[in-house]
Amino acid sequence: MANQHQVKAKKYLGQHFLEDETIAQDIADSLSFKGYDHVLEIGPGMGVLTKYLLKKDTTLHIIEIDTESVDYLKNNYLNLANRIIEKDFLKYDLNLVFEDKPYAIIGNFPYNISSQILFKTLELRHQIPEFSGMFQKEVAMRICSKEGSKVYGILSVLTQAFYDAEYLFTVPPTVFNPPPKVDSGVLFLKRKENYDLPCDEKLFFRVVKTGFQQRRKTLRNSLKTFNLSDNLKANIIFGQRPEQLSVAQFIELTSLIENDEN
Ligand code: SAH
Repeated sequence: MANQHQVKAKKYLGQHFLEDETIAQDIADSLSFKGYDHVLEIGPGMGVLTKYLLKKDTTLHIIEIDTESVDYLKNNYLNLANRIIEKDFLKYDLNLVFEDKPYAIIGNFPYNISSQILFKTLELRHQIPEFSGMFQKEVAMRICSKEGSKVYGILSVLTQAFYDAEYLFTVPPTVFNPPPKVDSGVLFLKRKENYDLPCDEKLFFRVVKTGFQQRRKTLRNSLKTFNLSDNLKANIIFGQRPEQLSVAQFIELTSLIENDEN
């Protein structure tokens, strides 16, 4: 169907083009398309996912930083028309397009910025009920992991505070051109019904990030900079290491710190 040269893969943009149509279809099918009328695809490249998303009962928007890919999409997907945003997802103010409407995010992401894509999604969570994306396999598994696991960390806690995270399937390097060096994994996030935390949200982010900076230390040690009262630090929760705390316990910990009388 292509009526233009294929896009030449650029390393600095993390371009690995998926060539397996069944996998593309499976990723497109991973969203429910319920509860929102708009979907944003990040980094469509030559549109392998895009063409399946265009068949869905939704208004599809795409954001792509690469001019050559944008030209390709404009020539090959005429019905995308003015819903192509030629910008950097990390820098663009999406409210210019979506105002206060809800939308889902989907994509086969450039791995070098996939964590930043997730952090931006968490910031925008009030508008994003669903998120589906291909990450480096280890990153996808880390995001879904539970307390006690070696890979449980900042991304796991912050994501699972607001979303239920599900690892869908693994994708081998061989189905990409050029093949990446690592396995990939597709992750699905569904926002929790109640995603307002019962504690100060900014403080929660700070506690989680600071706690995991020294993951082998007890929280009593790693949270020294919070200047907590001795009384509070005597609480057994401070004798734990961050990787032992569930999301609910991190919320509880944040509430304790918030109410500390120091
Ligand atoms: N989804 C396509 C391409 C995946 S490669 C496929 O599966 O074949 C990742 C894509 O993200 C590339 O097209 C790259 O140009 C794009 N990209 C990289 N950084 C971006 C950014 N900051 N904002 C938007 N798109 C970006």
